[in-house]
Amino acid sequence: MTATLICNARIFDGSGANPFPGALRVEGNRIAEIGALEPHAGDTVIDAGGRFLMPGMVEGHAHLSFENVCATEDLIKPTPEAQCFATARSAAALLEAGFTSAYGASEARLRLAVAVREEVNAGRLPGPRIRAGGLEISVTGAMGDEARLHDPRIGPSSIVDGAEEMRKMVRLHCREGVDNIKIDVSGDPFYPGTPGHTTPMTFEEVRVAAETAHAYGRRINAHTRSIEGSKRCVRAGVDALFHCEYADEELLDLMEEAKDRIFVVPTVGLFHQIMAGEAAGHGLSAEVGGYMNIPELLENSCRTHTELRKRGVRHLIGGDYGFGWSPQGTQGRDIEFFIDYYGYSPQGALVCATANGGLAMMGDGTLGTLQPDKLADLILVDGDPLADPRLLQGPGHIALVMKDGALCKTALPLVPAGQRTAPEAVTP
Ligand SMILES: [Zn+2]
Repeated sequence: MTATLICNARIFDGSGANPFPGALRVEGNRIAEIGALEPHAGDTVIDAGGRFLMPGMVEGHAHLSFENVCATEDLIKPTPEAQCFATARSAAALLEAGFTSAYGASEARLRLAVAVREEVNAGRLPGPRIRAGGLEISVTGAMGDEARLHDPRIGPSSIVDGAEEMRKMVRLHCREGVDNIKIDVSGDPFYPGTPGHTTPMTFEEVRVAAETAHAYGRRINAHTRSIEGSKRCVRAGVDALFHCEYADEELLDLMEEAKDRIFVVPTVGLFHQIMAGEAAGHGLSAEVGGYMNIPELLENSCRTHTELRKRGVRHLIGGDYGFGWSPQGTQGRDIEFFIDYYGYSPQGALVCATANGGLAMMGDGTLGTLQPDKLADLILVDGDPLADPRLLQGPGHIALVMKDGALCKTALPLVPAGQRTAPEAVTP
């Protein structure tokens, strides 16, 4: 069996404990042992040079088909062929930036993430593990419904009304290979007719979506910003709740009771980017953000997610990247946002980026931590991201990426066991 020993590393195992010096040995696609290790005969040895070794990160709300999106039009107008290439580029960019998993939200077309997942799994394209999202599933007049009576165009969402239409649409997504169903339960600031505090989707529609997705062994995830929307999601058995800005005491209690079952993905990056003026060049200045009520949403986000952190609800990082101002592969910015906005310790924020994400990807605990017998998804970082989380904000400081035991990126020499240095390069 092929084996790799990464020695001389500072190991952050994803449990939240402080890093410790040591080595990690990978056999096949699993971590075999961790500690003060010597290479076995036949091992490939990588000297980490004191670098920070941590589990690969998980993007918790991936829109892989979003590339330089500035308006809904950018999701509708490109050809499916062009969008397929964009989706593949996003997958590669995430892997390069240390994300070994992507937990899908929604895509511009139903099968974009499914198609790229298949290519990545077959080893023909670089990319993270992908739980593929499909279309947003929404209801008439709510978020994603771009049609009007005089202009009946098709937007990037599937619109259903009532339990039977919902059941059929979720089944269709399952048939086409989608892993993660996404329903739009609440409104959204980008749709003034149904702002974030409104709840257009009925409990019965949410319940049927959850029941159907689970019957097919898929996950059900929800766009929910409103109090009532989030309550419907928890009560209906939704697996991951996206956004969740508004809350009352009853909702916080409900989420706490469900904390071993649900995941919560705040997607705070988008609000930060708008209010910091980073999207101003794309018509979305802080002033426009003010009209859209973003400051109030951000304030509620801070209050709710700080409270959920204290109650031990499992947060994931990422979400809503791929816009003109937030390139794919910069999702690691959320680690800093979790520290600044929600009061996470750097260790705690890294757990959200790794162990929590691994649990969302695979419920069995085999992914997201560096422990014996776990899947070997890991990265080496130049410097100390606990002291400076900005090191994880792009590919620049990611010195090595291993996914499922296979090296996907490394700038470090690979040395056969017993040899002290890499073989001399032959100059022609
Ligand atoms: Zn989103």
